[in-house]
Amino acid sequence: EEGEAFGYLGHNLPQERLTVAVGSVAQARSAIAAAIDYTKNRKAFGTPVASFQNTKFELAACSTEVEAAQAMLDRAVSLHVEGELSAADAARVKLFCTEMQQRVVDRCLQLFGGYGYTMEYPIARLYTDARVARIYAGTSEVMKVIIAKSLGL
Ligand SMILES: Cc1cc2nc3c(=O)[nH]c(=O)nc-3n(C[C@H](O)[C@H](O)[C@H](O)COP(=O)(O)OP(=O)(O)OC[C@H]3O[C@@H](n4cnc5c(N)ncnc54)[C@H](O)[C@@H]3O)c2cc1C
Repeated sequence: EEGEAFGYLGHNLPQERLTVAVGSVAQARSAIAAAIDYTKNRKAFGTPVASFQNTKFELAACSTEVEAAQAMLDRAVSLHVEGELSAADAARVKLFCTEMQQRVVDRCLQLFGGYGYTMEYPIARLYTDARVARIYAGTSEVMKVIIAKSLGL
């Protein structure tokens, strides 16, 4: 119907945001897998980087973040399948998963040292790709505007 385009567009935005969140969780998982593989093979001071307590703690914390995001995402996907996913819940999932992705990929990249900053290593590509997730399909700030509105603010 003429004049209804924005409504039609808005109707599909929760699904688009869910799609971005799925990618964010998958890419964060991929970063952890790459960091585990790399740190097991890279030696510093004669010992694998994976053997340092800091490396274990960083990867444990990253893994916990990913699992929290996955639980939130799974719930949102179920709601979406039932046609019950609200715009605010889609915004929460997009906000949390994309910000989580940024944190996790950054922490994993740190474990690569200088090689993490070279495009030959997939972690550098994951880092570059992560940045846009907080912008497209609606920025993190706009997600917060939507969530705040649902809180009556
Ligand atoms: C790689 C890429 C692919 C894209 N693909 C598509 C696509 O396929 N289809 C499509 O339609 N769009 C697409 N976009 C556009 C994308 O959705 C927008 O860039 C995004 O929504 C932000 O809009 P903007 O760039 O106009 O930024 P602006 O709206 O100019 O925002 C600038 C800054 O102001 C902040 N801001 C804006 N409004 C508020 C507010 N109310 N409160 C607080 N802060 C605010 C923003 O968060 C941001 O930090 C794509 C963008 C990129 C980078």
